[in-house]
Amino acid sequence: MKSDAIANSPIRNLVIIGSGPAGHTAAIYAGRANLNPLVFEGFQKGGIPGGQLMTTTEVENFPGFPNGVMGAQLMHDMREQALNCGAEMIMEDVVAIDLSDRPFTITSTSHQVQAHSLIIATGATAKRLHLPSEAQFWNRGISACAVCDGAAPIFRGVELAVVGGGDTAAEEAIFLTKYGSKVHLLVRGDHMRASKIMQERVFAHPKIVIHWHSLPLDVYGEEIVKGVKIVDTHTREERDLAVGGLFYAIGHTPNTDLFAGQIELDPTGYIITKGKSTATNIAGVYACGDVQDHEYRQAITAAGTGCMAALEAERWLSAQA
Ligand SMILES: Cc1cc2nc3c(=O)[nH]c(=O)nc-3n(C[C@H](O)[C@H](O)[C@H](O)COP(=O)(O)OP(=O)(O)OC[C@H]3O[C@@H](n4cnc5c(N)ncnc54)[C@H](O)[C@@H]3O)c2cc1C
Repeated sequence: MKSDAIANSPIRNLVIIGSGPAGHTAAIYAGRANLNPLVFEGFQKGGIPGGQLMTTTEVENFPGFPNGVMGAQLMHDMREQALNCGAEMIMEDVVAIDLSDRPFTITSTSHQVQAHSLIIATGATAKRLHLPSEAQFWNRGISACAVCDGAAPIFRGVELAVVGGGDTAAEEAIFLTKYGSKVHLLVRGDHMRASKIMQERVFAHPKIVIHWHSLPLDVYGEEIVKGVKIVDTHTREERDLAVGGLFYAIGHTPNTDLFAGQIELDPTGYIITKGKSTATNIAGVYACGDVQDHEYRQAITAAGTGCMAALEAERWLSAQA
């Protein structure tokens, strides 16, 4: 362990893991409450410092920016604000955690600290297909979030494709009909996993065409996506589908490996929080943002729950005093 000021400091009031909108908002509120929070920003485990918005271009739906804001700029500003409010930051991954006793022990790649309370804001990772040209066309026609990117000019008035067969895919396909001239839903098998009601909405929608047994092999285009190469999973026949965008709706993986066996998770790995709060099953441990939210998954909802987590941690710490 490094023998610097942070590693040698007495037990911290609050440690926050994650530096996306949830973690930074929690840090802003906790800093202003004089809790002197310590944030482990992450490095490469479960995303990058600044979180998922670092991987996108313009964010048009975060309030306060009438002309939109670049994702990286928004996260840079949130970080600055958290520092100005009194948060300390360590740009490292947390690699081990012990929640069996209070104070909790948090170990990162080169520090170990103890804390009376903990906020988990480690986010989730959108699953990708890892198509051969995915990196080239990411943000240039390939997206993992229809609600975030669907209204972008490149997707307006053109045919679009969504890959997936669950509720998210159904929702994203319906959402995209607002912008695309037609939406092609690519389903791997011969049925959808989506709920019956969502399936009925998809089947009845005049702008949605379902392609059963269909899997994307790659995208093609020049500056932006011009189409998707798909394969029929039965016949292995390949064909081109001319679309201006491909949206992945194949699920997310919550970044909760670290907490497995210590905190109550739902069957898909998301942290379970109690009722309308961010409280977990362990007193003094709170979870906010996408790591506990498989429903909304937006920067503003992550920030909102980050605020809740900091207020709840502050109240809990005051009650212990
Ligand atoms: C391409 C893309 C575009 C998007 N566009 C929009 C948009 O336009 N508008 C919108 O509202 N939402 C958008 N979203 C969704 C939005 O980014 C997320 O809802 C939001 O970032 C969730 O915030 P979070 O703080 O919960 O988690 P994240 O942003 O995922 O941040 C998680 C943080 O935890 C850290 N971390 C993970 N594991 C560890 C560990 N072991 N130790 C230390 N740190 C760790 C990561 O490094 C990261 O800093 C988009 C998402 C994607 C993928």
